[in-house]
Amino acid sequence: MRLAGIDVYLHWTYFLAPLYIVYSTRDFDQAWLVNGVLFFLLLNLSFCVLLHELGHALMARRFGVPTKDIIITPIGGLARLAWMPKKPNQEFAISFAGPLVNLLIAVLLGVIVCFAGGSLLPSLSFEGMSQLPVVMLWINLALFLFNLIPAFPMDGGRMLRSVLAKRMSYLRATLIAARLGQLSALSFSIFVLWENQYPLILVGVFVFISAQFELNQARLKQVNEVDGDSIGA
Ligand SMILES: [Zn+2]
Repeated sequence: MRLAGIDVYLHWTYFLAPLYIVYSTRDFDQAWLVNGVLFFLLLNLSFCVLLHELGHALMARRFGVPTKDIIITPIGGLARLAWMPKKPNQEFAISFAGPLVNLLIAVLLGVIVCFAGGSLLPSLSFEGMSQLPVVMLWINLALFLFNLIPAFPMDGGRMLRSVLAKRMSYLRATLIAARLGQLSALSFSIFVLWENQYPLILVGVFVFISAQFELNQARLKQVNEVDGDSIGA
């Protein structure tokens, strides 16, 4: 698929999501209904993730940076920019453009729901597809806040680096942002172990490794210019 001149791909893991949904609802009464609702939610979520990545890509284009492609996975997206501008203000704008899209979607849905006379609070029981705008409003708000966490590989990590890079070298700014990311990944991992939420430890490990990767990239760049930069969801 091509959008605004950018190739959009689904990552192969995307096809694991429907399998996981079907597997996790196998004991439910009316599993087909639950599955249908969850598939529909997944499609809507992926659409919002795609708009988020387009936000990064179109802001990058404003600074003359082309995007190689956009990859959508079940847990997020990736806009692979040809390079990340060295100017801190441009990196900040490109990183913030993605979460900003989610905030705009949430505000837009909020206005629509208010005009339709609905409640902005999500109800805990399933009543019908009319709940979709409110559910998507909260999901987009969550995406906005989650991405602002100042830790690599979240957009907030890049925003933090660009703010720091105004006062110090790019490498030192990356080092601080990466160590902060790893510290939050460690605290998160300890917390989920404490709460016996073992599968969530993968998220902590992923964030920890991504932060190290980002740091290694910056160190490599210091030695010789490497091409290619990606922006996570
Ligand atoms: Zn993003």
